[in-house]
Parts: sequence; C-alpha cells; structure tokens
Amino acid sequence: MTDDRPIRIDDDPTERTDDHEPLLSVEGLQKHYPVTEGPLQREVGQVRAVDGISFEVRPGETVGLIGESGSGKSTAATSLLYLEEPTAGTVTFDGEDVGAYGRAERKAFRRRAQMVFQDPTASFDPRMSIGESVTEPLLVHGMTDAERRRAIAEDLLERVGLSADEFDRYPHELSGGQKQRAALARALVLNPDLVVADEPVSALDVSVQAEILALIDDLQAQFDLSLLLISHDMGVVHEICDRVCVMYLGEIVERGPTEELFTDPQHPYTRALVAAVPTPDPDAPDRDVTLSGDVPDAASPPSGCRFHPRCPQVIQPEQYDLDQDNWRAVMDLRMAVADRDVDRQSLRELAVAEGVADDPDAVGEAGVRTALREEFDLPDELGDDAADRVLSAALEDVAAGDVAAADERLADEFGTVCEREDPTEQATEAGHPAACHLHDETVANKGWEWASVD
Ligand code: SF4
Repeated sequence: MTDDRPIRIDDDPTERTDDHEPLLSVEGLQKHYPVTEGPLQREVGQVRAVDGISFEVRPGETVGLIGESGSGKSTAATSLLYLEEPTAGTVTFDGEDVGAYGRAERKAFRRRAQMVFQDPTASFDPRMSIGESVTEPLLVHGMTDAERRRAIAEDLLERVGLSADEFDRYPHELSGGQKQRAALARALVLNPDLVVADEPVSALDVSVQAEILALIDDLQAQFDLSLLLISHDMGVVHEICDRVCVMYLGEIVERGPTEELFTDPQHPYTRALVAAVPTPDPDAPDRDVTLSGDVPDAASPPSGCRFHPRCPQVIQPEQYDLDQDNWRAVMDLRMAVADRDVDRQSLRELAVAEGVADDPDAVGEAGVRTALREEFDLPDELGDDAADRVLSAALEDVAAGDVAAADERLADEFGTVCEREDPTEQATEAGHPAACHLHDETVANKGWEWASVD
C-alpha cells in the first residue's frame, strides 16, 4: 500500500523559485533539417519542421500542443528538451537558459524534464524487466542502493495503477495500457517538474485511452507537475489541458484557454479541428467545416499564410464578392494548376464516367472543361462576369494543354492577401490571439462574417 505522499528520490527536492513565473518558456524555437542531394550530399534546401514558435508552461499547468500529423509538434517537443539541438531560439527552464547549460546542468535538466512517448512497446527494452527499466534512470543518476530503488519503483507502479508484482515482469507480459502506465512510472521516477507527453494514448485501444488520460490528469495533480501534452486529438486535449496552442506547418496559429478556444475558435484551422470533434448532442448546430488535402511539405511551405491552400475562409481579391465555397473551388483549381497537378488523361476518363463520351479518346476540349468543373466543384457561373471570363479562359488553356498559360491567368486575376502576406498574431474578440488576416483591421474584403461555432 502507498501512503498519500509519493516517495522522493532524495531528501532535497528541487525548489522552484517562483510559482508565478513560467517553468518553461520557449522563444522563437526553430528546428530545420537540411535537404541534401547527390553523392556529395549537397544541401539544396531545408525542412522547416518547427519555424519560430513561442509559448510558456507555468508550474502545475497542463498545456496542449495540437495539430495534424506533419505540423511539427513532436519535433517541437524533442527540440525544446534538447533531445535534438534546436536550429534557433531560446528555451528557458526555471529561469535558466537551457542552451547555455554545460554537461552536468544538461543532465540535471534531463532529470527535471521527462518525456513520455507514443508507443510504450518501443520505449521498453524487451530484455529488461519492468522494474529494471523503471529504476534505470535512478541508477544513471547515482542511486546505488538497490533496495531503495526497488521501493521507489514499486511505490510508483502502484501509483500508476499497476501492482508491485509487475516489477519482475517483462514488457511482453503487459498489455499496451499497462506498458503506458509503466512508462509513466519511469517518467516520474526522477521526480520531474515537467513531463512532455507525446501522443500518450494514440497507440492504445480506445477502451483504455480514457483510463490513461484520467491517470495522467491524476498524476499531474498528485506530483504537482507541469505537463506539455502533444496530440493530434482535440478530444484528448479538451479532456485535460488548461491552455492550448494550435500548430500548423511549424507555426503556432492560435493559442488560448481550452474552453474559450473550443467554444470560440478564431483561426479557420482551429475551427476545422474543433468541427471535426464528434458531438453527442443531436441538437448541436451544424459545425461542418471541410478541410481538403494534407499538411503541405515543410521543405517548401506555401507563401503568406501557410494554411491558404486549404483554408475554407481564404480571403477574396478586393474586386470580388463571390460565394465563399465557389471562391474556394477557384482557389483549389489555382493551386492544382500551379502545382501542375492537372492530368488531361484523367480528366478525359472522368468525362467518360460523367457520360460525356463512351471513350476517353473521343473526349474533346469541351469535355475536358466539363470534367474540370466537376473535379473542382466549380459552378457553371460564379456570378461575376469578370471572374467568369477569366475562369473560362483558364479552363480553355488547360483543356488545350497550356497549363502554364492557365497558371499565369489565374494567378494574375485571383491573387489573395492570404498568399502574399504572412499573418502575425492578432488580438481577437474572443480574447485570445490568432494569426489570421481575418482579424487584421487593415486587411480589406474579408467578406466573411466570423461566427461562433457554439
Ligand atoms: S490568413 Fe487567410 S488563409 Fe490564413 S487562415 Fe486566415 S483567412 Fe485563412
């Protein structure tokens, strides 16, 4: 049986200087990886996995870092812990610059800032017993008393919902949920102040995810931890985080208190993530916000706002006031044409499927134009003569095989501030900031009324 207080690994627990100061402060953190080519591995570019993010975690606080796969959140975690050297930026931990630490200080930092990984199976050595794995960090940090190591580990195993008997078992004898509990015990064995948990439940069965989340929440309070939770799952973040930072393609695009951010998201990307969370309430308003495509390649991020190739609310050129869905469809065509991602043979086959002809070889330019409208959900008319003229001419260019001319024509006519200018974080009516031109008073023709999803 355990008493209420966790056993500490020493009698001199680290005192934090000021509970009002952030425990962790990340300023302009960057992590870029070189892209190399050829036998000489010549550098031809950079993958900008994390591109200048800043945020804080205060003592006892749980902060969520959320985004789709490819948003850079896991790289942010390993970089801020110096498991890999950041390219630029400052990480301040308990008032000290981690980048300026020497070897001994770095080791002490690693003791106070622990990481829990996504896959509990991969994070255990199959040849070591659970007890050996959990106590290994104590040994590394100089605790030579084996009995004391065992007592600490058994106490922790019980605190994470396992039994002391698990000490002598091996990873293959434990379920995924039990292994993640053991991984939490190992993360806590050095009595850390900060735990960074990277997708801690995403590799587990749905049936045990809620249990592990509740355990993390409980341990956070019991051990007075600061917790940085990395997740792609809005439901997970909603469950236990005090504040949330939303990441997209290496940048933070919105941040705020969890409830505020979920009930009143201020960035179209957050809005789409929130809308995708299933709600049990059948009377809930329609929250469908479609998000097309995947996160683009961080080696060549889009210009301006990195979200503009997918944003449902991408801002129209000043001279237009088109239906927003139609405008998004025009932008989708523009993006595909710019990427040379329009294939006339596939369009001919689509035209056949649409009943335009019996054979792809019999599909003429008019059939390809019809297929293009079908493929990109373009209406017969946009409701603006000038826009319709340019669009029709661009479709003719593509159907005739001159994609470069279509690209130039579309880019000239349908340029948007969202692709030209990189938005900075702006104050919003909801009270928390978001990096989106829709909140910039100086940007014209926003053309879309922001409404709460609630
Ligand atoms: S700046 Fe433009 S593209 Fe980016 S999120 Fe805002 S509206 Fe969408």
